[in-house]
Amino acid sequence: MNARMPHDAAADHPSAPAETDIAIIGTGFAGLGMAIRLRQSGLTDFLVAEKADSVGGTWRDNHYPGCACDVQSHVYSFSFAPNPRWSRMFARQPEIRAYLDDCVRRFGVERHLRFGHELTSAIYDDTRRRWHLRFANGQQWSARVLISAMGGLSRASTPNIPGIETFKGRAFHSQHWDHGYPLEGKRVAVIGTGASAIQFVPQIAPRVAHLDLFQRTPPWIMPKADRAVRPIEQWLFKHLPFTQKVMRSALYCMLESRALGFAVHPSLMKTAQKVAERHLRRQVRDPQLRATLTPDYTMGCKRILISNDYFPALSRANVSVTTSAIERIDEDAVITSDGVRHPADCLIFGTGFQVADPFAQGVVRGRGGVDIVDTWRDGAHAYLGTTLPGYPNFFMIVGPNTGLGHNSMVFMIESQVEYILRALKAMQNEGAAAIEVRPHVERAYNEQIQQQLGRAIWSTGGCKSWYLDPRTGKNTTLWPGFAYKFRRATSTFSMADYFAYSPAPKSVNVNVSAHAAATQSAHVQGKASASAEAT
Ligand code: NAP
Repeated sequence: MNARMPHDAAADHPSAPAETDIAIIGTGFAGLGMAIRLRQSGLTDFLVAEKADSVGGTWRDNHYPGCACDVQSHVYSFSFAPNPRWSRMFARQPEIRAYLDDCVRRFGVERHLRFGHELTSAIYDDTRRRWHLRFANGQQWSARVLISAMGGLSRASTPNIPGIETFKGRAFHSQHWDHGYPLEGKRVAVIGTGASAIQFVPQIAPRVAHLDLFQRTPPWIMPKADRAVRPIEQWLFKHLPFTQKVMRSALYCMLESRALGFAVHPSLMKTAQKVAERHLRRQVRDPQLRATLTPDYTMGCKRILISNDYFPALSRANVSVTTSAIERIDEDAVITSDGVRHPADCLIFGTGFQVADPFAQGVVRGRGGVDIVDTWRDGAHAYLGTTLPGYPNFFMIVGPNTGLGHNSMVFMIESQVEYILRALKAMQNEGAAAIEVRPHVERAYNEQIQQQLGRAIWSTGGCKSWYLDPRTGKNTTLWPGFAYKFRRATSTFSMADYFAYSPAPKSVNVNVSAHAAATQSAHVQGKASASAEAT
């Protein structure tokens, strides 16, 4: 069967939701990792919804020139799916995307994938103990368990600069790169100097007539220890797989040691900073440009970037770095606060993602129709970045406070995937239809996380970053320290942390839309029945 064709029951009967035990949303590392491990654990009653027409998540959506991983590929890959063929230490986007495609085939998850399924709403029906999902293509699913693998960095953020709508040239965000637009001979304005911009600027600088780079805050940049993986290494990884395991473990330990500076002794960052300062001195001769590119905050406060070609690109004669604030945009120029007009044929936004609100309003609604956006009005939070009171049987992968600045996100994703598997097995063993984390457990967990984060470099380093919620200043994105501690915290599932609910009576068949619009009284009733049945 062609995995890219919708072939669920609902396709024939659009009014009847397709029934599935588990619904996964997203097919990046998180969604595919979950799907593969479900199959490997013998759980096959699941569907995976993907809004696009292929898998890959961030590695499908981001395809700007120079897009590559900044964590070594031997670590930035599934532990259960080593790839002996990585061509470079830091693989580039097409190779990572091909790796994920290969995982789909290798582990037989095609049959579970439903492409062209963009989630528009997921509403918990407390009476039936099921999630009711609607998709932009008109399809509907009913699922007992909902797993969000939508990623924290998937919604592009484009600043609302005055006059932006008057710009007559081409404008796009790094995530929506227009490869059909020839940059050759054009005057290009790049806004932003984050992880994405430092990768694409060196690629396009030699092609354009002039590049104006608008820098608000300079990043700390370390040398990138990239190189081609030698054929002999690839041979060893293929024929003696333990050699790749050794390489992976060594890289993991090296990366993990960086948490010491981030979270335990921020003063250590001053030492690492010297390496970055030397890198800048070596690569930028012009003292004025060097001063412009020197950050005034402690390294680690914002994401540390790695590059060998960014500084040389900025030293080119056809590149200027502008630090004056952007005041407005005209039909053919960017105007800065010093009154200077920077003519531009093309604007490229390397301005990052909407991190503080991972879900759009109205998409995820828990018990009583409560929108997760409202639950998180004072900043996102969850238990182990995975579960949330009021949202039974809802699991998040890469949820609040699971991001890393120092090690591989795939490690965190696998920790959460295994935790969710344990939760599903515990439910099975105890005959529970649904579970919901107890509010005091989730609260105590988050108080501790916030306490630890308060001492970490992200709070004390003297900078503003996307790690911090702009409304509250709280760090709602990062895990505060060593990744192995998260692995340890997620390595057991305790039913004592959760309410467990028995299956809904068979006769119950409630109109879900009506339930979503349920009033406060239904909410209270739901709560009462929940606690009565909690075990
Ligand atoms: P980012 O790190 O959030 O950087 C956005 C940049 O845009 C910053 O320099 C920011 O300046 C600037 N900016 C935002 N709004 C602006 C405005 N109104 N005016 C002027 N400048 C503005 O975004 P990103 O580079 O896309 O990276 C986001 C994250 O994606 C990374 O941190 C990383 O986690 C991930 N990523 C990973 C890789 C990888 O290799 N694995 C590659 C790319 C991205 P300020 O610093 O002053 O806010």
